[in-house]
Amino acid sequence: MKVHEYQGKEILRAYGVATPRGEVCFSVEEAVAAAEQLGSGPWVVKAQIHAGGRGKGGGVRLARSADEVRQHAADILGMTLITHQTGPEGKIVKRLLVEEGADIEREFYVGIVVDRSAQRVVVMASSEGGTEIEEVAAQTPEKIHKAIVDPVAGLTREQAKDLAAKIGLPDTVLDHAAEFLLGLYRVYWGTDASLAEINPLILTTDNKVLALDAKLNFDDNALFRHPETKELRDLDEEDPNEIEASKYGLSYIALDGNIGCLVNGAGLAMATMDIIKLYGAEPANFLDVGGGATTEQVTEAFVIMMRNPNLKAILVNIFGGIMRCDVIADGLVNAAKEVHLSVPLVVRLEGTNVVQGREIIANSGIEITSATTMADAAEKVVAAARGHR
Ligand code: GDP
Ligand code: MG
Repeated sequence: MKVHEYQGKEILRAYGVATPRGEVCFSVEEAVAAAEQLGSGPWVVKAQIHAGGRGKGGGVRLARSADEVRQHAADILGMTLITHQTGPEGKIVKRLLVEEGADIEREFYVGIVVDRSAQRVVVMASSEGGTEIEEVAAQTPEKIHKAIVDPVAGLTREQAKDLAAKIGLPDTVLDHAAEFLLGLYRVYWGTDASLAEINPLILTTDNKVLALDAKLNFDDNALFRHPETKELRDLDEEDPNEIEASKYGLSYIALDGNIGCLVNGAGLAMATMDIIKLYGAEPANFLDVGGGATTEQVTEAFVIMMRNPNLKAILVNIFGGIMRCDVIADGLVNAAKEVHLSVPLVVRLEGTNVVQGREIIANSGIEITSATTMADAAEKVVAAARGHR
């Protein structure tokens, strides 16, 4: 789960990590009032969307007077902000962060993630702040310094200080900077974050270390432990189909292809997408109905898939283990009748009571192509998609 910058900064402050002061605003009037409350300026008016690169896209602007705050707020609120992370369609800005402007001496980068190959949390830091870290990683990887964290000991003060020194923070602020990094690590650990990225981390002209930007992502599987984090969810920023799917216990992720996939189990769903690609086509989505696959779930899955204008065919690939194939077949047939599928449907059932299941499909009176093996299913659905216009 992602949150906005202003929400991330509230969390940082709660853990004692320094940020500029600021306030979230939903209107131009609120923005002007917030600026006055913050002091005499200058201020920064920042678009709040779940994507980075806002500065380059015109979503981060410096204001030197209340009039400029008004002007920038009016320009940014409601604008469609396009950045390298939003995709070409961009995001409509509905919230602003008005902050006291900082006097920047230098910009740095710091990020905390899990390093899967090390099987540890890693703290990364770089002197190259404010720019895209992916570019730094590609072109000058030696400028990214890492500290691998022992899960029992946590990030140590020595590690934090060493990182701060390596990225070129001056000796006089190393203790401050170490404090900052230790605080950021406490945020990451304490909130079950999957990413805590500060880009830029700044050194101000009066030698303070501050988080000028904040990107926190949280591990969805740990959200049950953090009801306070769940509250921060902004559904406006998420794909409406993915939200609806989650209400029915479906894991749905939209993709660029034209073959809809409805599968039980994430592993089988991945394998299904792979084999569709192997047969020369592209999946329109990832969709895992979980262990169950009830009529209601399958109906909802069909409805969501059919909203995709690129959809040319659907492949249902279900393994009946604990769930019996005849029960699944009943559900499938009912769902297909209910939603009036407008594209060809290929179904592969395997597992318990598969013979009865296939019979139900054959006798359903609706046009369903039955498949036996994974390869058979992929071949048939790719052919069906090619024939369908
Ligand atoms: P992003 O583009 O979405 O990553 O947004 P950031 O919050 O990182 O802001 C982009 C850039 O705007 C930063 O790298 C800074 O150079 C600049 N910026 C943001 N806030 C301030 C500020 O308070 N003072 C100054 N001088 N520059 C700022
Ligand atoms: Mg940034």
